[in-house]
Amino acid sequence: MQDRQTIIEIVQAQHQFFKTGKTLAYAFRLQQLKKLRAAIYEFEDELLDALQKDLGKPVFESIIGETGFVLMDINETISSLKKWMKVKRVRTPFVMWPGRSQVYYQPLGVNLVIAPFNYPFGLSIAPLIAAIAAGNTVVLKTSEQTPTTSRVIKKLIDKTFEPGFVACVEGAVEETTLLLQQKFDHIFFTGSVRVGSIIMSAAAKQLTPVTLELGGKSPCVVHRDADLDMAVRRIVYGKFLNAGQTCIAPDYVVVHRDIRQDFLQRLEKRLHQLYGNDARQSPDYARIVDQKHLQRLLSLLDKDKVAYGGSYDLEQCYLEPTVLKDIELDDAIMQDEIFGPVLPVLEYNSLQEVFDMVEQLPHYPLAAYIFTRDKDIEQAFIQGIPYGGGCINHCLQHVGNLHLPFGGVGNSGIGNYHGFNGFETFSHKKSIYRAVTWFDYFSLLYPPYTRLKVALVKKLLK
Ligand code: NAD
Repeated sequence: MQDRQTIIEIVQAQHQFFKTGKTLAYAFRLQQLKKLRAAIYEFEDELLDALQKDLGKPVFESIIGETGFVLMDINETISSLKKWMKVKRVRTPFVMWPGRSQVYYQPLGVNLVIAPFNYPFGLSIAPLIAAIAAGNTVVLKTSEQTPTTSRVIKKLIDKTFEPGFVACVEGAVEETTLLLQQKFDHIFFTGSVRVGSIIMSAAAKQLTPVTLELGGKSPCVVHRDADLDMAVRRIVYGKFLNAGQTCIAPDYVVVHRDIRQDFLQRLEKRLHQLYGNDARQSPDYARIVDQKHLQRLLSLLDKDKVAYGGSYDLEQCYLEPTVLKDIELDDAIMQDEIFGPVLPVLEYNSLQEVFDMVEQLPHYPLAAYIFTRDKDIEQAFIQGIPYGGGCINHCLQHVGNLHLPFGGVGNSGIGNYHGFNGFETFSHKKSIYRAVTWFDYFSLLYPPYTRLKVALVKKLLK
């Protein structure tokens, strides 16, 4: 771990480096992205092992959610970068003719990227890709809760970049607090709502812009007309991937009253089919990040309401995929984001009941899902409540399409990224109006403001 002085010097070195203007060139950015891609290939096996060690993450899940996802992102960025960097010409109103109006994408400068534990590699590197593409420097603060992965990321970064351009700082609250006292041009934070608020308060002191990718309580609605088997397959996938430690996992399910019993039976059957009698033995099921988080989850379990699962092993940080039934809004499990393999099932009669439920909860959902074949219900669900993004008849998939902006709304997040949206997030859009010099009808603008000018301006500006 770096000491205080080293951390302070890294940030200063990045300001110096940014001032050289080296990051502005397309060739430089492209070269750095290619270097990063080569490093990911080089360290991939080590990363997959580290993720297995820290989170018991199955290799398949590490590839789709971490290394593979990031490689897809970097390839898309490399192939689109030239187009993204182009100066965009926009229309110029007639009253400003002759002249041209353009938008220049400029890097923000020195960025602090803070990563969470649940996708500790993917959520460190995805913002880094966008930041490099947009011509920035980055101090990356990895998660202390996944120390093996953090060490590999540090090794990868140290080997690939000079610290004045991209540096990795390991550490927890103390190191992050020190970083937050330094001057940055932008802070990109992924993590909990609670810490998001700490980050924003610290950033406010220096008026540093922030992007906050936070959590929320994401509902999943199963309507009466849903294809139940498909809904169950997709919900189980979305919820129990990475043992429920996915920010956009369905937090709870709300099932139409008429199909509730049928849904619960199929859900239990599916869980048994996937994970057998003892999910602990399954190579396809991850672990909770640490005992503290497992204790937190256990404290939320009302034993009388467990419909399936509930067994655990504190030593192994294991919690069986668990379903809770007969859940009401005031149950402990509904008070905060669950972030673990516990799925409460609630019921509803009308969609309005679901909307009222979501609105009574303290946080805006980061994601929301609905299973239905009814187009009107779909539309009502898209329009009816605020949430960052979601899917109709699936779970999680919207995060995989780099053409869709990814982020929250209200207190589930500020700003968004992925693909071009990430490039924009790490850019300042500088507006330039370029006037001609051979003609100065703008003299109309200058005093004296004669009556004729007033009449003319009234006519023109309508
Ligand atoms: P966290 O908020 O506890 O930690 C995130 C980062 O903040 C870590 O790097 C940590 O070291 C740092 N941190 C923790 N306490 C701090 C403090 N007091 N001051 C300064 N820095 C501090 O989050 P986590 O437990 O790592 O991740 C889980 C949370 O992240 C969940 O709420 C989840 O929904 C959210 N999340 C959101 C997204 C998204 O894209 N929106 C993605 C993944 C996770």
